[in-house]
Amino acid sequence: MGIITTIVEKFSSLSSFAYINSIPKIFVSDISSSLFCEWKKYLEIKYGTEETQDMIRGKMIHQDYFRYEHIDFRYADELLASGKELSFTMKVGFIWIDKDTGRKVMLSGEPDSILFARDGVKKITELKTRRNSEVHSSDVLQVGIYGICIEKMLDISLDKVELEIRVKNIVNDDEISKTFFLGDIKMETKKKLTDILDFWLAKREPKIAESSSICRVCNFRKICDRKLIPI
Ligand code: SF4
Repeated sequence: MGIITTIVEKFSSLSSFAYINSIPKIFVSDISSSLFCEWKKYLEIKYGTEETQDMIRGKMIHQDYFRYEHIDFRYADELLASGKELSFTMKVGFIWIDKDTGRKVMLSGEPDSILFARDGVKKITELKTRRNSEVHSSDVLQVGIYGICIEKMLDISLDKVELEIRVKNIVNDDEISKTFFLGDIKMETKKKLTDILDFWLAKREPKIAESSSICRVCNFRKICDRKLIPI
């Protein structure tokens, strides 16, 4: 079976297993976005979030950059076998078992782009759209977890796989890109993931932002009673 078909079928069987066994699913994007303030994530879950103009713009930019149409995965594997490189988005995930409690959660997500070649995965890319040209540590965490997901699905080391974060500045249209290897960040990613999952598994209270600059741009600052700035 080809690599793309393997990932598709593995994700499908993991999802079925999680569903049958009532294992909760957590999105990788939610894990990474809770890095700066877990309390904000709690408020988001409780009150929901409104789609902003920046989010709508971000979605349009993603549509322009990446291929989201349906792909015949078996045909894609044939193309890879013939030497062609292909990149597209697909669902990835794995089941996390908490070592203290034995509780299970399914981590699941969809990287913006995975580049495949005949010899396997070459690059995972995540695009961010924001009002500055900065790569955030949450971006590195997100793309690192995607890499770990694919490693676990394929049961191989992807230390040499390139991870790319592109940031598109929606104010001035500038674009920056930062790349590194999964092997460079894997240990740190696992450490952060373990810590954040303690929050998601309700093993501890949510952490709040460490800097007032995070509260200053937070959508919940008006109702949040833990903010680090005056209203
Ligand atoms: S205002 Fe600050 S503490 Fe409150 S949710 Fe937002 S980022 Fe977190």
